[in-house]
Amino acid sequence: MKPAMTLGGDSVASLNIPGQGTLAPGRASQAASAASLAGPVAMTDTHAEVAAEKHVLRVSDFCLYYGANKALHGINMDIPVGKVTALIGPSGCGKSTLLRSMNRLNDLIDGVRIEGDMLFNEHSIYDRRVDVIELRKRMGMVFQKSNPFPMSIFENVIYGLRIDGERNKRVLMETCERSLKGAALWDEVKDRLHSSALGLSGGQQQRLCIARAIAADPEVLLMDEPCSALDPIATGKVEDLIYELRGKYSIVIVTHNMQQAARVSDFTAFMYMGRLMEYGPTNTLFLTPHLKQTEAYVTGRFG
Ligand code: ADP
Repeated sequence: MKPAMTLGGDSVASLNIPGQGTLAPGRASQAASAASLAGPVAMTDTHAEVAAEKHVLRVSDFCLYYGANKALHGINMDIPVGKVTALIGPSGCGKSTLLRSMNRLNDLIDGVRIEGDMLFNEHSIYDRRVDVIELRKRMGMVFQKSNPFPMSIFENVIYGLRIDGERNKRVLMETCERSLKGAALWDEVKDRLHSSALGLSGGQQQRLCIARAIAADPEVLLMDEPCSALDPIATGKVEDLIYELRGKYSIVIVTHNMQQAARVSDFTAFMYMGRLMEYGPTNTLFLTPHLKQTEAYVTGRFG
């Protein structure tokens, strides 16, 4: 678990960070009301600390339309290597759309059109020649609701290798063990690898899905509200796991829970109405945000 930040309670009326102070609603006298936030929108305020990071993914002037509805407006954002980046913002602001665009899941939706680009290790992921299946292995996705396949725990984890035609039992077993250990699930399931994955608890199923993503040896893990269907104990385990996985993987997590963003992430990006408003170190974004819109959101005045 991340040691430095402890945020009390689930309400975000104020955020209290030991030794660092409190950002309370009353602090900024000029704070905007939710209604006044819809005014002209400036470019993203990207903090210098983000710009200084080495990046694995570069989002460049990226726009996305669902038919006539423009859901993403010119997003520019670098995803740092080996760090956890949280996407926050009110419902409908485009967090999931942006996340899904990173491994081209939006390709599957009729009427979607994009402008701009995303570069993964400096290569366009929207280039016609990109092998989308391969891309999705390099950028594993973990969804809001865990989606284990109706097969054994073992087969779930090594599913991708089977599809690739891997038959070597030693390779399959080693990958299974490594991935389950990586997802902090090995000790709980090592004696029942050949039992159905559907018999696992919700939290175990979510960690199994993380193990399945890890088995493909990804560089990036994309997580779309991975704890929203879990109870607090299972949430704690998955959050601990996310925190442990940083360094090994570059993680982007969508969350509507600001406490969670503060607990697990190194950097936080605040989105509003399809735009990336402010992007910086998580501590700064929650304690001393640059924009009044960010402050209004993180202090719970709209959402
Ligand atoms: P968030 O994850 O921040 O809640 P979304 O990315 O889900 O936001 O949605 C952003 C906008 O795109 C919303 O206006 C939403 O209604 C719209 N949208 C999302 N998915 C679809 C879809 N499959 N078809 C049409 N519009 C969509």
